[in-house]
Amino acid sequence: MRQTLIAGNWKLNGTKQSIIELLAGISAGLNNSMNASVAVCAPYIYVPLVETALKDSDISLGAQDVSAHTSGAYTGEVSASMLAEFSCEYCLVGHSERRSLHIETDAEVATKFKMLKDQGITPVLCVGESLEERDQGVTEDVVKQQILAVIDAHGISALENAVIAYEPVWAIGTGRTATPDQAQEVHASIRVLLESFDKTIAETTQILYGGSMNPANASALLAMPDIDGGLIGGASLKADDFLAICQAA
Ligand code: PEP
Repeated sequence: MRQTLIAGNWKLNGTKQSIIELLAGISAGLNNSMNASVAVCAPYIYVPLVETALKDSDISLGAQDVSAHTSGAYTGEVSASMLAEFSCEYCLVGHSERRSLHIETDAEVATKFKMLKDQGITPVLCVGESLEERDQGVTEDVVKQQILAVIDAHGISALENAVIAYEPVWAIGTGRTATPDQAQEVHASIRVLLESFDKTIAETTQILYGGSMNPANASALLAMPDIDGGLIGGASLKADDFLAICQAA
């Protein structure tokens, strides 16, 4: 049985003060009746602050990106070993905003994925199609190619204990959500792809849905058999909304 994971992606938001308040609000509202593990992916600069705030908490710390390099002349970058020093348990890779705004290729995403694995950090591999690709009917091909880039580079075993987040680009930050059936269809196709390599990995990999998930639509999405949680952007910035999504799990 796969554990549900609700992960917040704070993106480029927050201040020291607002983050402390947000975490206090989430921590105060979490309770044992919630059937989900919870993580927050903080901007790099706030990782140490969040690490301290989450000491003795059940909430896991995550980051939003990682360097494809281990060390050296890469100004502005942060390596997987640096994240590991600050107890990061999760890190997003290949978020569509990184792919589109920073022109990250599938190959680069695969390298970042491996950097995280090598440091014992769980990569959350973000995949998803643009609206144009959905309209062309190539959604499953696009997602398959994004996942195969990791498998081809590092083998299926790299996906052991990793997380995949299916995030249709047209649903991220737009208020437009995939219907539960649309999301389930893609999630099931991801599971079939994994199964063609390794049955156990297919059965155990958590596949999250991301794209305007909110308290109103979370229950229906999370009720689908192959949706194992959510990657939450906008709604993770308000404790009440984030908690309502955790409650829906
Ligand atoms: C995201 O950034 O991963 C995301 C899903 O954002 P939002 O929930 O705001 O659509």
